[in-house]
Amino acid sequence: MRYVSTRGQAPVLSFEEAMLTGLARDGGLYLPETIPTLSSDEIAALAGKTYEEVAFTIMRPFIGDTFTDDEFRAIIARAYEGFGHDARAPLVQLGANHFLLELFHGPTLAFKDFAMQLIGQLFQAALSRSGKKVTIVGATSGDTGSAAIEAFKGLDNVDVFIMFPHGRVSEVQRRQMTTPPESNVHALALDGDFDDCQARVKDMFNDFDFRDGVGLAGVNSINWARVLAQVVYYFTSAVSLGAPQRKISFTVPTGNFGDVFAGYIAQRMGLPIEQLIVATNQNDILHRALSTGGYVTSGVTPSISPSMDIQVSSNFERALFYAYGGDGKAVAQLMDELKTKGGFQISQGALQALREIFASGRASEDETSATITGMFAHTGEIMCPHTAVAVKVANEQPVTATPMISLSTAHPAKFPDAVEAATGQRPPLPARMADLMDRPERVTRIANDLAAIEALIHERRRA
Ligand SMILES: *Cc1c(COP(=O)(O)O)cnc(C)c1O
Repeated sequence: MRYVSTRGQAPVLSFEEAMLTGLARDGGLYLPETIPTLSSDEIAALAGKTYEEVAFTIMRPFIGDTFTDDEFRAIIARAYEGFGHDARAPLVQLGANHFLLELFHGPTLAFKDFAMQLIGQLFQAALSRSGKKVTIVGATSGDTGSAAIEAFKGLDNVDVFIMFPHGRVSEVQRRQMTTPPESNVHALALDGDFDDCQARVKDMFNDFDFRDGVGLAGVNSINWARVLAQVVYYFTSAVSLGAPQRKISFTVPTGNFGDVFAGYIAQRMGLPIEQLIVATNQNDILHRALSTGGYVTSGVTPSISPSMDIQVSSNFERALFYAYGGDGKAVAQLMDELKTKGGFQISQGALQALREIFASGRASEDETSATITGMFAHTGEIMCPHTAVAVKVANEQPVTATPMISLSTAHPAKFPDAVEAATGQRPPLPARMADLMDRPERVTRIANDLAAIEALIHERRRA
């Protein structure tokens, strides 16, 4: 399996190279040259299998000869053994034909653990074989950073630097990043918003001297291996509700388009998904783009679902690549317009292609809170604000016979203030992390300045 860039100019890479590289050298994102498909019978045969077995079947065709079957099975087993639920991604019923896919049973209580725990094991296996050392630099709106730190802390061949927007992540999120004592973990509080953090990471990747000098590796949602890991739970959940005999729809709370793009890949692999509904908070560039065709950035407004406070949605570039029929030049031109003019218009043809599978909706702050309150009153279910954004948008879709699965992306205890304000209940942390608030913190505040950040990384990294 070979990987190509969405902008068509970077070298074609193997799975291992694409995974270790992250962002392509032409500024694009890597995608598999072809998407393997499963027949209906093969999908039906997933029923009753464990999460790990399904993960192996779905991901195996994408990894080429990077790992043997036995190695890959062992990597998957280690990635998910720390999850607090044997099903890994259990489904609970919320309404007559509406289900919640609980993706928050991993070590940092958000769905990002599904990808990051796997990536940690993949890197460990690849780097211990080659003896190479890498510096992982990531930007986070809260959950990616803690998931990355949890996945990479203590690994010999890796230093991990995570930048988060100072003062804009929840206390639980911050503490998950600042309390691990391992010396290869470096939490940086940047004076700026998430888009600033993400832009500085991109700048570092485009500074080839720096990039090669420190062995820069990216694990943000631009990393193909992360998208791949997320494809798995679309299959496990859809099959448990009757796919491939029945079609299934999903509503996905998103900012960076990563999670919902994984659903798109699942559909391209043959999973009968009727619709993928993109649910945004008030930072609604994706909803506006899908409803009007205009992808136009505006400022980020902080919300109670901070992991979706994003206006430059990296993974949308991957969807555009397919919508433009694999035309890397066209994608590069759009991205250029985005950089110089702050937006672009999606062509009619591409918009039509996107709308064949994607629909969208948004939830305001009040609507999100009201959904948490209402769902608690009706069902007893306490949900995090990101999940509530999805549930609000799912509930406004026309009712059909197709089951709707809303992705429940974080444990409510990760966002206790918003949840308490809406329900009067303060959700407790699971017992395994009950002492989080008492552990000492270690963090460096840093200006939104590329040179200063690069200097700090040179100075701190051990490798
Ligand atoms: C990251 C995150 C999202 C959005 O994920 P995308 O990669 O933007 O699709 C939603 N909910 C939670 C809790 C998250 O951490």
